[in-house]
Amino acid sequence: MNKSRRSFFQRTVSLVAASSIFSSIPSFAFNTQGTKKMKMTFRPYTLELKHVFTVASLSRTTTPVVLVEIEYDGIVGYGEASMPPYLGESQESVMAFLKRVDISKYGNPFDLESILTDIDSLAFHNTAAKASVDIALHDLVGKLIGQPWYNIWGYDKTKAPNTTFTIGIDKANVVREKTKEAVGFKILKVKLGKDNDREMIESVRAVTNVPLTADPNQGWKDKFYALDMIHWLKEQGVVYIEQPMAKERYDDHAWLTERSPLPILADESCQRLADIASVKGAYSGIVIKLMKCTGMREAHKMITLARANNMKVMFGCMTETSCAISAASHLSPMVDWADLDGMLLIKNDAFTGTIVKEGKLVLSDGPGIGVKKIG
Ligand code: MG
Repeated sequence: MNKSRRSFFQRTVSLVAASSIFSSIPSFAFNTQGTKKMKMTFRPYTLELKHVFTVASLSRTTTPVVLVEIEYDGIVGYGEASMPPYLGESQESVMAFLKRVDISKYGNPFDLESILTDIDSLAFHNTAAKASVDIALHDLVGKLIGQPWYNIWGYDKTKAPNTTFTIGIDKANVVREKTKEAVGFKILKVKLGKDNDREMIESVRAVTNVPLTADPNQGWKDKFYALDMIHWLKEQGVVYIEQPMAKERYDDHAWLTERSPLPILADESCQRLADIASVKGAYSGIVIKLMKCTGMREAHKMITLARANNMKVMFGCMTETSCAISAASHLSPMVDWADLDGMLLIKNDAFTGTIVKEGKLVLSDGPGIGVKKIG
């Protein structure tokens, strides 16, 4: 090919690619070298729970979050950090971290890999704080392109799974009432790990026959008890178990996974991408949560790596608004199971976005993560 033919060919390929793939991108989206700067603002917000929520380690009625906005050329991306107390972050720690993030110094919002790697290096841990920036940037970039993330990643949103609805640990009569309120869900998640495991399951089973999942949250102390319980839970229609024992007990989990008739998923044992190497072999799969893994970009990598290692993937959440839940839902067509019910547990959601219809996650068509702020 001579020089002029080659340049014509390259121009044509470029034009075809640009017109077919990016036809909906506003021209300003590519003008990332000019004077436009990203600007980030954030504020604390307290989620009020509909019910007292009890897991193996504690009870609570509120969850602190921080809501983040990143604005670029008049477009605003929304993000959120949620901080259940046992994870070690707080509104104060998140806001202290966010004050250290100089978002204005990054000229190109599309350069997510460089920006998020740089922000990750600012401090160890702070994963919810990092996730809030990641979600807001993804929302912003999706809006600049004019596409929802399920389209950008190439996922069929109709393949979003049913979500579990979580029943916290409580007295038998309260558990029955909560289970009745969960009518319409096709699968329920039951918190276990205290001294009433069988009563919890039997109370749910007194109301419904839908499949169940079980989450002892590290509450089981003995691997033989765990194995006996798992056999009994299988007979009760449970389909997988999250984090049966303490997160450090890899050998005991490997022993259990080898013998278990149900998949055993690493939740507390698997926070980030690098943890997959250490839980491989000890568990059947992993639980990904945006607040554990620093956000959508790393979550996407974790799904890919887990799949390459033939591991199951469940997408979980904290108590969160529809902002973080909607962000997670854009990855949900790629997972085996989803527990994305956090926004259903609160009275004062600050966004609309992904909803649950007849138990299934239904993503909005809006660009970015597809949320709208309430009020
Ligand atoms: Mg869990």
